[in-house]
Amino acid sequence: MQKKKYILTLDQGTTSSRAIIFDAKGNVVAKAQKEFKQIYPQSGWVEHDPQDILESQLDVMHQVLWQVPKEEIDSIGITNQRETVIVWNKHTGKPIYNAIVWQCRRTAKMCEDLKKEGYDKVIYKKTGLQTDAYFSATKVKWLLDNTKEKKEDLILGTVDTYLLWHLTKGKSHKTDYSNASRTMLFNIHTLEWDEELLGKFGIPKTMLPTVHSSSFDYGIVDENLLGGGIKICALAGDQQAALYGHACTKKGSIKNTYGTGCFMLMNTGETAVTSKNGLLTSLAASADAKPCYVLEGSVFIGGAVVQWLRDELGMVKTAPETEAISESVPDTNGVYMVPAFVGMGAPYWNSEARGMLVGLTRGARREHIVRACLESIAYQSHDVFRAMEKDSSLKIKEMNADGGASNNKFLMQFQADILGAEVVTPKVFESTAKGVFYLAGLKSGFFKSFGDIKKINCHGETIYKPKMPKEKSQRLIKEWQKAVAKCLD
Ligand code: ADP
Repeated sequence: MQKKKYILTLDQGTTSSRAIIFDAKGNVVAKAQKEFKQIYPQSGWVEHDPQDILESQLDVMHQVLWQVPKEEIDSIGITNQRETVIVWNKHTGKPIYNAIVWQCRRTAKMCEDLKKEGYDKVIYKKTGLQTDAYFSATKVKWLLDNTKEKKEDLILGTVDTYLLWHLTKGKSHKTDYSNASRTMLFNIHTLEWDEELLGKFGIPKTMLPTVHSSSFDYGIVDENLLGGGIKICALAGDQQAALYGHACTKKGSIKNTYGTGCFMLMNTGETAVTSKNGLLTSLAASADAKPCYVLEGSVFIGGAVVQWLRDELGMVKTAPETEAISESVPDTNGVYMVPAFVGMGAPYWNSEARGMLVGLTRGARREHIVRACLESIAYQSHDVFRAMEKDSSLKIKEMNADGGASNNKFLMQFQADILGAEVVTPKVFESTAKGVFYLAGLKSGFFKSFGDIKKINCHGETIYKPKMPKEKSQRLIKEWQKAVAKCLD
């Protein structure tokens, strides 16, 4: 049979749903995006209407499918915002409440109580996660505590599962390892839903989806939604999908996404590394039956510091112009920015810290402050990178980068200089979608082997080599760390 030409990917993100069609060479041949409503019922609460999630996703799917012959679609891969969770009635498909989004803090007190009890240690040991409202478990407990519907009638899922269930008209209730590992209900060592945790949060096991490799025959899209019997062959959480999209399948391979915040993930192979530096341990997206492990660390304020320069300070008109402004001065003239607007994440973990601009003199100009802001993204990523090296006992020579701010050449070069490691940006920046494109293609036979993927993935990337003398980078990092210490004080 003649090989089909394309794979369709659905990327359900926090603020928008996207659909991208790739050809066999990894080129984007069609793309559509639709934003949907963010719901903030109270301070710190964040919700999405599950109907908005579904409709916006179907809308962009149909938009891209207008642009190519549908018969040429080989299969579908789905990637999604992680941890966000939905509970719905299995007979009617109707959600019992809005989706509770990963950012939502409504169960923070529940998590504090678990910590007081010392139960966070049990949770970390089983799930690799810190006890936090961010993850799905306490959100599900809140949903079940606040409904009158009978638990026997209900099922639940993260966004991948919800989309899959609807795309297959209720035939497939499944998820993958990467998504399951972010629920705080999944034992990452036994690779099963953890009975003790389910008991603790009052969640019947019958409500949960079955868990599979990220590459798997997840079901066929319902004829009424999309004719032609198109198979869904991959599911993966967005960050793990991006790691796979950089072809980081080897132990020690690493990627950093420079978005609003920064998300760094490192593949640690078959070892579930216990972190001494506050990093999380999760499951990677993988085409193998048994997934490998990742270490994950995030920086809360990444590209957001550039938005702050633009929107709050009015120092720049657009984000891209920070590149030329930073290059117009040889250094920051001793200015350091610590953008701890919402505390500091890994490896500092201080929620009380607040932002600081230090080292100001009469000679400090706008250019120095703009440059210090960009450098702060690189310094914070450096701190997570070193924590990963320490925890894994691996020395890393190369880091893959993606996300909006990785378009900034000054930032990428400075990052390479500070890390003393090469920073690599891909030709096609859609790493998240690429991850499920690869995973789906491996399952369906679109790709014969990982070798096919390696060939298209390396094509046309940009490599930033470290150029700064080591003494200089060490001195700069020391000064940065002094600034952080002041901020944490
Ligand atoms: P998200 O997925 O978190 O919304 P994106 O990957 O779209 O983020 O990246 C957007 C972020 O990157 C914004 O915070 C923006 O300020 C920053 N950004 C985008 N382009 C640039 C650039 N050329 N230089 C510096 N920062 C940038």
